[in-house]
Amino acid sequence: MEQVIAKVAGQLVKSRHAIALTGAGLSTESGIPDFRGPNGIWTKNPEAERQAYESYYKFQRDPRQYWVESLTGASWLTALFKARPNAGHDALAQLESLSILKCVVTQNIDNLHQKAGSKKVLDYHGNISLLRCFECNARFDPEEYDLERLLAQNRLPPLCRRCNGVLKSDVVHFNEAIPPDVARESLEEVERCDLMLICGTSATVYPFAMLPRTAKQNNYRQKTVIIEINADPTPLTREGISDDLLQGKTGEILPRILEEVQKLKAAGR
Ligand code: NAD
Ligand code: ZN
Repeated sequence: MEQVIAKVAGQLVKSRHAIALTGAGLSTESGIPDFRGPNGIWTKNPEAERQAYESYYKFQRDPRQYWVESLTGASWLTALFKARPNAGHDALAQLESLSILKCVVTQNIDNLHQKAGSKKVLDYHGNISLLRCFECNARFDPEEYDLERLLAQNRLPPLCRRCNGVLKSDVVHFNEAIPPDVARESLEEVERCDLMLICGTSATVYPFAMLPRTAKQNNYRQKTVIIEINADPTPLTREGISDDLLQGKTGEILPRILEEVQKLKAAGR
């Protein structure tokens, strides 16, 4: 393991455009459970899974009711607002500040990369702390809308200040398309990158899981080094998409990689 960490640190320092892809596993050490692991939200509460599949239809059928339910019902999402970034998020933010990591594409909706100080973050599945216009895709801070007041005055759903379209949570629900701007920018990052760190994802949710495969397919043009950091092997490991798997916790392995990178930088390599 230590040898692979040293090798990956060297590859990072030499890379031209390194990016990270992240998933729910990166945030479990911040106390946010994943969906289907032993302590997963859906493993413990199958009703929550059924509701999650219905959210998008609910929004399309009756946006007012969708908003009333999201503001009055108990949801696991509220726990996300209190969560703090862990050592894994911090290490990725520091790799960016060293100009080594150029972008994070995350499936997480928890805003923890931003809280850790990462600047270039593409929220592939949206961000819990934003609202998004269903018509024009503009994002807004919920503070601008005072949703509780709209609820009390029976004036939901909130409407876009730009185009008067209906606003929903920025979080991408099941069966909802990935916002086109984020989908396009993520693909551009993947096509540009020569090193990809894949952290804490089972790589089974599509279309996100296509991103490492796209990088691999582009290898005839440009070789991309693909490194997984995950508690368990994934389909990417088994199909030979990744070049190396660092098996363990992202909150331990990412800071070790950062440490090695800092040593190499200090030695002027
Ligand atoms: P997943 O639950 O399918 O897979 C998580 C992977 O991370 C597993 O392979 C697991 O073994 C590994 N893992 C767990 N803890 C780890 C740790 N500390 N270190 C290293 N690896 C660890 O997650 P996914 O692939 O991101 O897909 C789940 C979907 O659910 C995503 O679409 C995401 O949007 C959503 N989700 C998001 C959050 C969040 O925002 N934090 C939480 C739950 C689910
Ligand atoms: Zn709009």
